[in-house]
Amino acid sequence: MSASDQHPGDTVGPFADEWTTVACPECGAQAEIEARSQVAATSGWVELLKIRCLFRHWFLLPEELV
Ligand SMILES: [Zn+2]
Repeated sequence: MSASDQHPGDTVGPFADEWTTVACPECGAQAEIEARSQVAATSGWVELLKIRCLFRHWFLLPEELV
């Protein structure tokens, strides 16, 4: 859904102002993104999102799967 507009050379900054919700992969409830981090993968930089839903399920997902 999201366009890829990442700059691997950039430092990882705070994303506190960003408020995004996604559907929980387990129950489909609304989940909020609690944290983001960028990790190096074979195909380049991947942004991992930590999400937690209303029922306290939490997951670490690559952004491309959200
Ligand atoms: Zn859930």
